[in-house]
Amino acid sequence: MPLGFPYLGTFTHVMESIARGMNRDDLILPNEPTYRTKQLGSRHASEFVCTPFKIILGSLLEVIERGATQVIGTVHVDFCRLGYYAPLWKLILEDLGYTGDIICLNWFDKPDFFRNFKKLTGDLNAIQAFQAFRIGWIKNRYFDLVEKLLYSYGATEISKGSAKAVADKLNRTIVHTMGERNVRKLPRLIKETFKEEVEVDEKADPLKVIIMGELYAVIEPAINLYVMRKLNDLGVVAYTPITFRRWIDLGYRLNFFKRKQHDIAIKKAKPYLGHRLGGKARESIGCTIYYKEKGWDGLIHLYPFTCMPEIISRSILPQVSKDYDMPVLSLVVDEHTGEAGFQTRVEAFVDLLERKRNENDKNKVK
Ligand code: SF4
Repeated sequence: MPLGFPYLGTFTHVMESIARGMNRDDLILPNEPTYRTKQLGSRHASEFVCTPFKIILGSLLEVIERGATQVIGTVHVDFCRLGYYAPLWKLILEDLGYTGDIICLNWFDKPDFFRNFKKLTGDLNAIQAFQAFRIGWIKNRYFDLVEKLLYSYGATEISKGSAKAVADKLNRTIVHTMGERNVRKLPRLIKETFKEEVEVDEKADPLKVIIMGELYAVIEPAINLYVMRKLNDLGVVAYTPITFRRWIDLGYRLNFFKRKQHDIAIKKAKPYLGHRLGGKARESIGCTIYYKEKGWDGLIHLYPFTCMPEIISRSILPQVSKDYDMPVLSLVVDEHTGEAGFQTRVEAFVDLLERKRNENDKNKVK
């Protein structure tokens, strides 16, 4: 029963790692979403459903076309429409004649989660399956590290594209590294490889921009039009704390001695938004304050067209931006977002940040 799953930014590598750790060699790996993926998903989904729903549906249809008869639908549900994704995909795929399995991993329903997880693990016993999952969540930390270094080195690299080439190579190394002892050595390898293979302009003093917003809009470059790469091309360091790690990394979740950054952000957002809405509504607000205090220069807030929680945070963010003097650019993205308009807005935002920094420097000298 060939296994497929949709493309989800770098989390795709985590899913591949877990599947390979469970001896699933019958994998149909998804391709990065293309124009066709978006069209395919949009054709079979309601016009007003969230954009991630359509693109992920398109990605599922593509792995099914290529032979997958067991597909992973969702790995999480939330307070917003995310809870409807899996049942609706199921109905749509069945309508289209798909007769294979759709596996939905919903952590909030533990018996159902383990029942579905068992379908993926084949002959492995519970301990072996857990170990494969555990190695997957540890590797997730290292994929995040690669991502962080990529968009940090990428801002000041001398040879354009060298950081990306190193990141691609390291991501493949992480996927194929087996055995916990070898996996634990990866962070050192990652840091050393970037240091040795990416030549940077040591004199540069890049601006630093945080990317926040709805999970899929942030982690999937195909929907956000590679905004982090665009910032790097403008000489700006980009970073996002948004990652799937928060859900699947049980080691991190159960470390009660460590204050989690998202908990701190949610607390900071409380005067503006005290209730959970779904998406990353509270974190988007809280991180604006958190990263201002950490000295970052600005924040880009991304949200898909018709995203309910992020539309609310988008309407609150101008006030937060004013109160904390933190520049915020909110960008709505969907399958029709045009490259040129997006690029212009990002460039204008970076110009504004540069001017603001120059003015602050002048005021310090006075
Ligand atoms: S966070 Fe927004 S885009 Fe994502 S599922 Fe919820 S409503 Fe849709």
